[in-house]
Amino acid sequence: CECPENEFPELFKKPYHHGLPSDDLKCQEGKPQAAVDRTLDSKAFRGWTETDNPWTYDDETDNCESESVLDTEMTYVNLQLNPERYTGYTGPSARRIWDAVYSENCPKYPAEELCQEEKILYKLISGLHSSISIHIASDYLLDEATNLWGHNLDLMYNRVLRYPNRVQNLYFTFLFVLRAVTKAADYLEQAEYDTGNPTEDLKTHSLMRQLLYNPKLQAACPLPFDEAKLWKGQRGPELKQKIQAQFKNISALMDCVGCEKCRLWGKLQVLGLGTALKILFSVNGEDHSHQTLELQRNEVIALINLLNRLSESIKFVHEMGAAAEKLNEGTVTSTRLNSLVQQAWASIVKT
Ligand SMILES: Cc1cc2nc3c(=O)[nH]c(=O)nc-3n(C[C@H](O)[C@H](O)[C@H](O)COP(=O)(O)OP(=O)(O)OC[C@H]3O[C@@H](n4cnc5c(N)ncnc54)[C@H](O)[C@@H]3O)c2cc1C
Repeated sequence: CECPENEFPELFKKPYHHGLPSDDLKCQEGKPQAAVDRTLDSKAFRGWTETDNPWTYDDETDNCESESVLDTEMTYVNLQLNPERYTGYTGPSARRIWDAVYSENCPKYPAEELCQEEKILYKLISGLHSSISIHIASDYLLDEATNLWGHNLDLMYNRVLRYPNRVQNLYFTFLFVLRAVTKAADYLEQAEYDTGNPTEDLKTHSLMRQLLYNPKLQAACPLPFDEAKLWKGQRGPELKQKIQAQFKNISALMDCVGCEKCRLWGKLQVLGLGTALKILFSVNGEDHSHQTLELQRNEVIALINLLNRLSESIKFVHEMGAAAEKLNEGTVTSTRLNSLVQQAWASIVKT
């Protein structure tokens, strides 16, 4: 169900300190909507190699024991057959993961106490959490008996929209990842897109170029996030190491998510964040101009899928946010959501 005890990160073994006993974890993997469909096109590309990303935890490269094991093959999954949506994963198991992510690795920062760098990890994770909640709300199992799927606007409002910070963090994470993608434009343009189907490969390459050099996007958002401002002070290198270690912990926690499909998307999106961090903070920075960017195929896949998930979330907030607010507050009109979105932009521009 969850990962074996010996694979739990140390911090995860500590007694649960918010009133939920750790032995109350029910297996959530049996639910059909939580299972991963492993059907693959027979022509699909297989056979990538993996090297270490300093921002993420990889079984194959970070675990000495498993490195010697020969059967550590990657699993190939068709993401289009496994959309990120409601899975029924809830209760103590899910709560325990989020709690471990926040309480140990990126605690909520009280007002101005933490420096910019320390706030970033919290904002990124919170933004990802908002996005996951929005995808659950956007594709929700409304009636199990009739297998009726649809929007759950109440859930979107109660988990995300009513907390302005969560909306702001969603925007922040989107812009952070967008900046990473545009910064790596030269690399991503040249990367090999091998799906095993030449027509699909050409299409992918063309779509990537359209994304990377989109004039509207460049005009609207010339510098989505300015990473050059970070790691400047005396504590810069030490802070970077600390945050890198915390992010690695978060990445390891994803192996412990007790629902297969949630684990698939959780791991993929955290790898996407790790890839964005790797691009923004280890390449062509002032101290690292000698480095050239090298990404693994799965990092490119994770990065682009994460950007897609985040942008779909923002689109859903734009399209349905006002309706969700109306439903929940009766009298509130779209003005509040608009002002929330404006505040989000303003605070991001300041960052
Ligand atoms: C990695 C991962 C992936 C998941 N993927 C899926 C999925 O694909 N489908 C699915 O149905 N379920 C998924 N889940 C479960 C889902 O995220 C919720 O945990 C579950 O629906 C129960 O929700 P909840 O209302 O208890 O609040 P949760 O979303 O579990 O939140 C727990 C607590 O975190 C805080 N919090 C919530 N949102 C934010 C935010 N944006 N920023 C800061 N703090 C916040 C709040 O204090 C909240 O009480 C996933 C869980 C994890 C850990």
